[in-house]
Amino acid sequence: GRPGCECNACFAGRDCSLHTPNCTADADSGNPLFLEPYWRRHAAASAVVISGWHRMSYIATDIEKVFQSVELERQIRRLHRAVGNAVVDDKHVVFAAGSIQLINALVHALSPDANAASPPARVVATAPYYPIYRTQTKMFDGREYRWGGTTALWGNASRNPTDGFIEFVTSPNNPDAQLYKPVLGGSAAVTVDHAYYWPHFTHIPAPADEDVMVFTMSKPSGHAGSRFGWALIRDENVAKRANDYVQNSIMGASRDTQLRMLGIVKIMLANLHGKEDIFAFGHDVMRTRWRRLNAVVSRSRRISLQRMAPEYCTYFKRIREPSPAYAWVKCEMEEDDDCYEALLKSKIITRSGALFEASSRYTRLSLLKTDDDFEVLMERVTDLVNAENYDE
Ligand code: PMP
Repeated sequence: GRPGCECNACFAGRDCSLHTPNCTADADSGNPLFLEPYWRRHAAASAVVISGWHRMSYIATDIEKVFQSVELERQIRRLHRAVGNAVVDDKHVVFAAGSIQLINALVHALSPDANAASPPARVVATAPYYPIYRTQTKMFDGREYRWGGTTALWGNASRNPTDGFIEFVTSPNNPDAQLYKPVLGGSAAVTVDHAYYWPHFTHIPAPADEDVMVFTMSKPSGHAGSRFGWALIRDENVAKRANDYVQNSIMGASRDTQLRMLGIVKIMLANLHGKEDIFAFGHDVMRTRWRRLNAVVSRSRRISLQRMAPEYCTYFKRIREPSPAYAWVKCEMEEDDDCYEALLKSKIITRSGALFEASSRYTRLSLLKTDDDFEVLMERVTDLVNAENYDE
């Protein structure tokens, strides 16, 4: 059970332990509640109490005269060094309200100045891509930049000019968990979203070292509701423009959130490589889920999953089993050309491939939610596979 929590539609009772039979599995959102049991184990140590008089100021502290907590920035740099997932020494750090806010902050920062004579930047991504790159850019489409569609429309630098392009790359990718690289090349600016570049979800082959990188607390610690993300930016002017965007939009990330995140990052750091290592816990949960889902889906002719291989991880210093945040499901049967609808008929809510500008033969299953959510998902997937009936 999950005492004190709001139950989802499949569970009832004071601690959400009463299971409604034959209920619809909701595997739509990437809500990272798989980490809730970890923080229940560290409930007292991770608690933050903020009295009414505390942290009232716009600025982080009266001494620092800045919106960003210097101490939190220091701890985040330590976390990257300890995990080995990003080179931080030559980067500026810009905080924001979730990494979602950084998408447009960076589009603004990498675009030509609104007064410049140059045409608007084109913002592109390779399908299947995280849809908010499109929806957020389109919301602000205008003089500085416009949504330019998928990279397939533009080819690569050897054939086409890449000046004035901003390419979004997600690595590992949402939805299909692959470690992609930029495709345009040439002079295109690149923003690499590393929301899932943590040992829960992927092996870490080497520290990431792109010019503009985006991270979030939502996926490594699971505190999606605190709304905290940061960018690592090599160029000082780009960092300044991204920072200006955040200042103009929200006057800096919430001081309450920064204080809570400081406590959370310190606990993560203090437990690295010990028996309460959050990445060992997270990887264990996620690889077990992936293995169980694969075992059932491997009996199916109707649906299949992306292929993932065990890989060497520099954090664990060994070969680790795959543990993606999402399953990218393909419907194999001619008649299931809308995979989202096909799964919905089997009482599984997913996110359609069409949203990611991929074929509707694909749909995304979130594997990040609570154990209870995952159990319901396994029940419905097992029902679907068991209902397949072939004349051999
Ligand atoms: N980027 C990617 C690739 C994501 O999947 C998500 C969350 N689903 C985000 C950014 C946004 O996360 P947040 O705003 O919580 O930091």
